[in-house]
Amino acid sequence: MPQPWEIENLLEIQNNQLHIDGVAAVDLARAHGTPLFVFSERRIRHNIERLKRAETLIACPLKICYAAKAMSTMGILKAVKDAGSDIEVNSGGELWKALEIGFLGGQIIFNGTSKEIWELEKAIGAEIYAIQVDSTLELALIEDTAKRLNKRANVSLRLVPEIESNTHSGLQTALLTSKFGMMPGEALAAFREYKASPHLNLAGIHLHIGSQNPSAAGYAEALQILFHNLLQIFNETGVKLSHINIGGGFPVNYLRDDTLADAFPDEQREMFAADFDPADAIKNAWDVVTRSAESANASALLDNITLLLEPGRSIIADAGICLTSVRNIKQRPLKSTAVRGTAAVPAAVSPASGRQIDSAAGRSQDSQRDAGGTDTWVLTDAGFNILLSMVTYNWYYHLISAERSGDEHTYPYKLAGPLCDGGDVYFDIEGHGHLPEYRLLPPSVKLGEVLALLNCGAYSLAQASQYNARFLPPVVLIKQNGNAELIRRRDNFQDLVGSDIY
Ligand code: PLP
Repeated sequence: MPQPWEIENLLEIQNNQLHIDGVAAVDLARAHGTPLFVFSERRIRHNIERLKRAETLIACPLKICYAAKAMSTMGILKAVKDAGSDIEVNSGGELWKALEIGFLGGQIIFNGTSKEIWELEKAIGAEIYAIQVDSTLELALIEDTAKRLNKRANVSLRLVPEIESNTHSGLQTALLTSKFGMMPGEALAAFREYKASPHLNLAGIHLHIGSQNPSAAGYAEALQILFHNLLQIFNETGVKLSHINIGGGFPVNYLRDDTLADAFPDEQREMFAADFDPADAIKNAWDVVTRSAESANASALLDNITLLLEPGRSIIADAGICLTSVRNIKQRPLKSTAVRGTAAVPAAVSPASGRQIDSAAGRSQDSQRDAGGTDTWVLTDAGFNILLSMVTYNWYYHLISAERSGDEHTYPYKLAGPLCDGGDVYFDIEGHGHLPEYRLLPPSVKLGEVLALLNCGAYSLAQASQYNARFLPPVVLIKQNGNAELIRRRDNFQDLVGSDIY
């Protein structure tokens, strides 16, 4: 029986050990040390193809722009480019990386709320497909910059359409209370004011609902809003747009192994377990919009229009895992682990329902308590320095033993990372029960044992820091041909001080 987290031809158990694309995770950990990120090029391609299927279901060209913010190590950008994706960047640095790896200007779109003039110069100079404009003021800056460079900038105005998503509040981006974009009325006024500018090509409109959106319905709503704005812009200014951009945010199922699912509050569980096919969601959204266009007698406005997507997480999250080693183990009395308003072990394993995960886990806990009433703490070398979302958003990454993947994972451990902060733990330090209190691994975890955190490809290394002067980890990419290639070396001492002046 495969484990629920296994994915055929990607994550599999062979000889009781975790293999990624047929390569033994433990061998990679031995060769490169831990923490170590391992990515699968085949999975990246698979995920891009999964999105591209949408083009076969709708009657317009689709432009997929991988959101580089999710993971922009150069070897990954190359794999994404080779897989036939274009790219979305969110800074001059990401723009530079995209150009450096070989994306052409026409393959690049540039988002962001606070762009600097040098960034605009670089984007306009590279003649990128679209600068996504965040405000009327920014549009004026872009026009000025383009004029100075004697160029015409392609722009797309970002709307804030008041769409609520049931994702984490920090990942919501389409509400008036969020910091992004322009109100539709402002955008319309901007089209009126700038449509004749020789230095601006007002090419599109854009929105992004948020990340890890649990419901496909939000995309139909988003596309409808884009269409209504496109129609109004045409009716009131005569500008016919050449593209609409529906953003990213397609979810990844972080609870494919749902052993601990009951430990989450309902909304959290629904968000982490979200699992719909993006191509189907886009087809459904497109059908809704074409019907609206027909009834408004405006189907011609959709002729030759290109639909843009900006997926990050759905391309890279499940293509990457993080290998970490056990660096310390200790016992602590149960009492000291009780957190505000939460009872000790079994209820903490499943605070939402009060139900134990399964009888085996319950028995382990009971026998552990009988045997001395202690928690077993396992301290790893992977903390929030490399998995920041664990603390910012209480993000869940399923944990397994890479060395004993096939063994029953029924023994509860408190997991924590190596940093000097009490908050560097794999559970919800605030005690709100947003994450399971305990992680399940085989009994008798050993010093040096290699563990794997799954679905770690997105917003992990991209957000990592050298906090506590810890080295940024290396990255291995398992290529299409099965070769495991180092695409980023581990930092060294010099990297820790390379920018310091002393
Ligand atoms: N587009 C924009 C404007 C974003 O802010 C983000 C991420 O927050 C994305 C695309 C990518 O989102 P995701 O990685 O969830 O697909």
